[in-house]
Amino acid sequence: MSGRQDTPHPYQGRQVALATKHQKELVLEQPLREAVGLTIFVPDNLDTDLLGTFTGEVDRLGTPREVAIKKARWGMHASGLTLGLASEGSFGPDPQLVFVPAHHELLAFVDEDMGIEVVEQVLSSQTNFAHDAAKTVDDLTDFLARAKFPSHGLIVRPNSGLQPGLLFKGITEVSALKDAVTRCATASADGLAHVETDMRAHMNPTRRQVLREVAVSLGRRLTTFCPECQTPGWGLVDVVKGLPCEWCGGETTLVRAEVHGCVQCEYRESIPRSDGLRVAPPKDCPWCNP
Ligand SMILES: [Zn+2]
Ligand SMILES: [Zn+2]
Repeated sequence: MSGRQDTPHPYQGRQVALATKHQKELVLEQPLREAVGLTIFVPDNLDTDLLGTFTGEVDRLGTPREVAIKKARWGMHASGLTLGLASEGSFGPDPQLVFVPAHHELLAFVDEDMGIEVVEQVLSSQTNFAHDAAKTVDDLTDFLARAKFPSHGLIVRPNSGLQPGLLFKGITEVSALKDAVTRCATASADGLAHVETDMRAHMNPTRRQVLREVAVSLGRRLTTFCPECQTPGWGLVDVVKGLPCEWCGGETTLVRAEVHGCVQCEYRESIPRSDGLRVAPPKDCPWCNP
């Protein structure tokens, strides 16, 4: 499916607009250049925070996919380019492992000429995502270790809610942290400051690592062409559940097959799991281990 080795990739030497104000180009460019020859252009004066922030001053409208595609198109509009790129990170408890924090990063690529949208995503447990509430910095010792401060930035606000002038982002120094915690704790109805990890890419090396991973996946996907219409972006679009149980052969909720598809035409192919697993362990069987 990845033929065409003889001809240059259609994106070779092309520029893609990236809507970011958090220096994501420093991470995303290399994998995409190596994969398909794209270079990144970052338009000036794009305030991507208007589409929503982690800290809740602006609610995010739509699914992460919708927000990322909207951002990509915004960058294309601002730059006059017909290729666009944007990422959207979400953080929270892993849906499978309820108490373990997880990082979901989605990277959207839009090609206006071909009329396609290609989306890759990564779910990673490698994240420092955490928050705490405290009266003083001395109460935050464990939290600061978990948050990887000061190599990773922090955000501080009053624990009882947002107040004008009392939202401190991108804190990477102890003195600034002390000052912010004191001011926010004093202003808070419960006497506590809310402290959380700053998940913006330029403040968070762990997030940058995951961004790099998803850029590598997108690069791989753009080098894979639809066997039917030769459009780039062929890859996983759906899964089929029902992997048979090793003991009784009954259907489990584990994934049996991956559905790969085209971003342009309707062509689809169902293939066995890429990790080689052909039967489910009995512990995942609703009959053998109810
Ligand atoms: Zn069974
Ligand atoms: Zn196709």
